[in-house]
Amino acid sequence: MASTIQAVRGMNDILPAETGAWQRLEAALRDLMARYGYSEIRLPIVERTELFARAIGEVTDIVEKEMYTFVDRSGDSLTLRPEGTAGCVRAAIEQNLLRGQTPRLYYMGPMFRHERPQKGRYRQFHQLGVEAFGLAGPDVDAEQIALSARLLRELGLNGVTLELNSLGSLEARQRYRELLVRYLEPRAEALCPDCRARIHRSPLRVLDCKVESCREATRDAPLLVDFLDEDSALHFEGLQARLRALEIPFVVNPVLVRGLDYYNRTVFEWKTDRLGAQGTVIAGGRYDGLVRQIGGPDTPAVGFAMGLERLLALLELEVGQAAPERPDLFIGPFGEAAAPAALCLAERARDAGIRVSTGPVGGLKQLLKAAERSQARFMLILGEQELAGGELQVKEQETGEFLPASLATLPERLKAKLDA
Ligand code: ATP
Ligand code: MG
Repeated sequence: MASTIQAVRGMNDILPAETGAWQRLEAALRDLMARYGYSEIRLPIVERTELFARAIGEVTDIVEKEMYTFVDRSGDSLTLRPEGTAGCVRAAIEQNLLRGQTPRLYYMGPMFRHERPQKGRYRQFHQLGVEAFGLAGPDVDAEQIALSARLLRELGLNGVTLELNSLGSLEARQRYRELLVRYLEPRAEALCPDCRARIHRSPLRVLDCKVESCREATRDAPLLVDFLDEDSALHFEGLQARLRALEIPFVVNPVLVRGLDYYNRTVFEWKTDRLGAQGTVIAGGRYDGLVRQIGGPDTPAVGFAMGLERLLALLELEVGQAAPERPDLFIGPFGEAAAPAALCLAERARDAGIRVSTGPVGGLKQLLKAAERSQARFMLILGEQELAGGELQVKEQETGEFLPASLATLPERLKAKLDA
């Protein structure tokens, strides 16, 4: 039995040693979003269950197997959001962000799915979500792909490749789907058990299966790209021409489909082979029918989501772990009498913009140990002698050198040294 002091499986603490990397990534993402004219929207973590059922699709893995759904004290069925698009669309409709406007929005935060926890797959994970509404042409698809390409480039991640496909219109997909089911039915025996169950529920995903026997059995299956409606085919060509103009390399993967029902036309994924089976870091596409489907005005839309855990794992592999943030100054009060003065000095140093950590009142040996553990660049032990006036022993821990300063001048002197 799980104990009270165990986190829920797959829901991870993000520890102080890791949050520096998270904060740097989040800051880089916010800066990038601003450069592309995307504004942040902050959405609730809980929505009505029916919103997800309707938006994501009743017969998808997420809705059938992965949602954290509960009845609250008012008797409403609510769900911890498994993804952000449904809530974002709900908010855009409810808050009237769509009428005559073409908002570009982003959000960051936790998502929840009851999946089998493993490396790169958690039950609480974090996404950056990016959505643009009201633009039907391939320009905004290309813009979002350029945005994600820039993001990877600026972070120093070069081994991530772009796969692209078009799912066509919902009608063309429906026609193709029937054709595919007729193709798969007589081959059911050759498919893995998962795919056998998918033939009628989710036939497009069979073509994407990694199991060798499934690949073998579907080698000459009809492909959706050959059944695209004319407008979608033109849209897809337009997107590819724009990506070529932008010099963004891509591969058309004709069996790329997404696990959510709402996509049409453009779908894309950025993948790496450095994270094992969980290699998709960014995934997205167009969902022109969704806004209407959940009760809003007819509004084309396109978006993508990026898994922050996977991106951070890749950053650590490719770029290495950044040094954790450390304090500039450690102040240790030597004996009870020095405690108030240590607190006051720490406050004055913070006034000057210095990052200070303070030690517990203690003896010399204890304070020296605490100073070392703090990893502060400079350390000072404040005893009666120091309080009486005169020169302080402000030591740079790595070099052993002393910074000349008195109680009065320390904040200013240290700040000048740190800025030098
Ligand atoms: P997968 O095929 O890996 O299950 P998905 O198609 O379910 O992915 P999306 O719903 O498109 O994923 O989510 C977008 C991104 O969010 C994924 O590409 C991935 O980086 C990340 N992601 C999805 N599920 C998880 C999870 N359980 N744990 C960590 N990251 C996840
Ligand atoms: Mg999934």
